[in-house]
Amino acid sequence: MRFPLALTTKIAKHIVKHKIRRTPKFALVLQLEPLHTCNLTCTGCGRIREYSTSLKDMMDLEDCLASAIDCDAPMVSICGGEPLIYPKIEELVAGLRQQGRIIYICTNGMFMRKKMREYLARTYTPTIDPLLAKLVDEKLVTQKEVEEIRKGKNDGKPSIAPNKWMYWNVHVDGLEYTHDLIVEREGVFKECVEAIKMAKLLGYQVATNTTVYKETEVKELEEMFEFFSSMEVDGHTISPGYDYDAAKKDMVKRLGRQPEDFFLTRAMTRAKFAKIQEWGQRFTIFGTPVYQEFLAGKRELTCTAWAIPTRNVRGWKAPCYLMTDGHYPTYSEMLEKVDWSKYGVVDGVARDSRCENCMVHCGYDPSGALGTNAKPGDTWKNIAYNFGAKPKPYLAGRNVNAFNGVSIGKGHLAEAKAAINSPRAAANGAQAAFLKKEESSCSSGDTTQRDELLSKIKPKDS
Ligand code: SF4
Ligand code: SF4
Repeated sequence: MRFPLALTTKIAKHIVKHKIRRTPKFALVLQLEPLHTCNLTCTGCGRIREYSTSLKDMMDLEDCLASAIDCDAPMVSICGGEPLIYPKIEELVAGLRQQGRIIYICTNGMFMRKKMREYLARTYTPTIDPLLAKLVDEKLVTQKEVEEIRKGKNDGKPSIAPNKWMYWNVHVDGLEYTHDLIVEREGVFKECVEAIKMAKLLGYQVATNTTVYKETEVKELEEMFEFFSSMEVDGHTISPGYDYDAAKKDMVKRLGRQPEDFFLTRAMTRAKFAKIQEWGQRFTIFGTPVYQEFLAGKRELTCTAWAIPTRNVRGWKAPCYLMTDGHYPTYSEMLEKVDWSKYGVVDGVARDSRCENCMVHCGYDPSGALGTNAKPGDTWKNIAYNFGAKPKPYLAGRNVNAFNGVSIGKGHLAEAKAAINSPRAAANGAQAAFLKKEESSCSSGDTTQRDELLSKIKPKDS
């Protein structure tokens, strides 16, 4: 099966229960943002820009857990910011599991290995020594880290342990050069790959999470799927990039680029996703085939943003993950007070101009599962896809030239640094501009608060 039976059954039961009760609107996936702090500053990320004044603000653990109960979504996607910076991430994962939820930890991958080493230390017994030796062989942990693991860790905290109800959902937007360029830091892709390798060796479920931008090459996307499929990654989510306000403004101010150079219109999305159904057969793409038909331009869907609600430090964010017209104290109040008929695109006509180019999964993937704009055969299609056989790992993907950036000396920053050292660049002030950008690691201005949090999570010797 593409998605494990127990998990598919849980979601199907939830939908059937609400259909029988004729619940008009209900949640399928909670996007939980316990904090907006991030160690990266990816181009196109509206989150760290929109909430740049609340970097230090965090949701209480109790509030996070109560939010999941409030909307009662069977799946919780813990995002942010970078959720592994959240000081109580382990307790949050454990609490959500106690509630019986399916959990996705949406991470940029930079702290995954640290969290997995902590898990190994908290559960260490000599029986795992052969596994530790293998991790050393594969250069995924150092000998020094193994010695730390062997000392054990008795801090009374739970761990993020492998569990069939949990996925690491690792942000990867292309192969090495492209991904590092988008996240604006060299070495991130390599770290993600190593973290994924380690996670698979330890028995975790891992998915990748990709946003497609205007500049994303379709060929590169296919190679990326081939590469991660060869690593036996358990699934992929993919969604078109959206030109939401916060990201647009950042792009103009900070990078001097126009949003239309970077984000996709609906027509462009359809062109980029023309082969998504073929990818769905070759790779374990999560979601519904109905949403895939929508992305490929073969049908229209109505936005059901209320089915993937976002909860953050300010409350329930409406109308959706991307757009903010207000925050509400409870999920039910948000459902009741928001005029949902004002949003989305119906039969090609945008009800709100900001929705015009949006085809993102958090607005439209649930539409496919919930049967809005249903056509005969849709239910069967969804069942056949999700209960059908999981595509086999594409082992030839090991030959993909994935490390085509900084690993072979072609990192985008190395190129930029070389360029600014030219006499011409020095003459026109490019060096000063580059150094200024290097210093301001986050567009949010003062990074003291963020750095404080980061210092708590960074390994001592890094
Ligand atoms: S990893 Fe990138 S996309 Fe994710 S929250 Fe951080 S800056 Fe935004
Ligand atoms: S179409 Fe839906 S998900 Fe997209 S921006 Fe509009 S309200 Fe949000």
